[in-house]
Amino acid sequence: MNVPHAEKHRIHRSGWLRAAVLGANDGIVSTASLIVGVAAAGAEKSNIILAGAAGLVAGAMSMAAGEYVSVKSQEDTEAADLKIEKQALLDHWDEEVEELAAIYRSRGLNDELATEVADQLMKHNPLEAHARDEIGITSELSAQPLQAAFWSALAFSVGAAAPLLSVSFTPPGALLWVVPVIALLLLGCLGAAAARVGGAPPLRGSMRVCFWGMLAMGLTATVGKIFGIAL
Ligand SMILES: [Zn+2]
Repeated sequence: MNVPHAEKHRIHRSGWLRAAVLGANDGIVSTASLIVGVAAAGAEKSNIILAGAAGLVAGAMSMAAGEYVSVKSQEDTEAADLKIEKQALLDHWDEEVEELAAIYRSRGLNDELATEVADQLMKHNPLEAHARDEIGITSELSAQPLQAAFWSALAFSVGAAAPLLSVSFTPPGALLWVVPVIALLLLGCLGAAAARVGGAPPLRGSMRVCFWGMLAMGLTATVGKIFGIAL
C-alpha cells in the first residue's frame, strides 16, 4: 500500500522509554541521596558503600514489585471489563450494535453511516470493536507484568550503580560534592535525552530532573547532618 503521508508519532515509543528513564532517575536520585545522607552523618567509606549497595537492591526490588502490581491490577481491570462486555454481547446483541453506533455518532458520523460501521464491525470482531471503541483497550497497550518489573528493576540498578561506583574512587572528604555533581550531570543528560526522544524541549526536561535531584540530595544531607550530630 502506498502511504503518501505518514507522520511519525512518538506516543508508541514513549511507554517503555518513560519507564526506563524513570527507573534510572529513581536509581540515581535515591542512591545518591542515600550516600550523601550517610556521608553527611560522618559514616566511614565502607559503611557508605554498604548503605548504597543495600539501597540499590532494596530500590530495584521495590520498583519491580510496584511495577508488577500496577501492571497486574491494570490487567485484572481489563479482563473484568472484557468479561462484562462478552456477556453483554451474548445477552443483548441488538443493544450492543446500537451502543456502538451511538459511539460513532458522537464522534461525528451521521446516523446511516454510524449504523453501517457498527454493523460491519460487529460482524468482523464484536468484542474487539467494543473493547477498543467503548472501553479503550487495544492489544498494543496491554503491558507484560513480568517484563515491566524486570526492566524497571534493571533501569533502577543501572542508575543506582553510577553514584555507588563514584564513591569507590572518591576520597571520603570529597564525597559530599563529588557524588551530587556526578548525579546531577547524569540526571541532566538523562532528562535531556528523554525529552529529545519524546519530542519535548531538552533543556526543560533536564532542569526538571536536576531540580528534584538537588532537592532530594539537599534534604537527605541535612537529615544526615542532624542525625550525625545527635548520635
Ligand atoms: Zn458494549
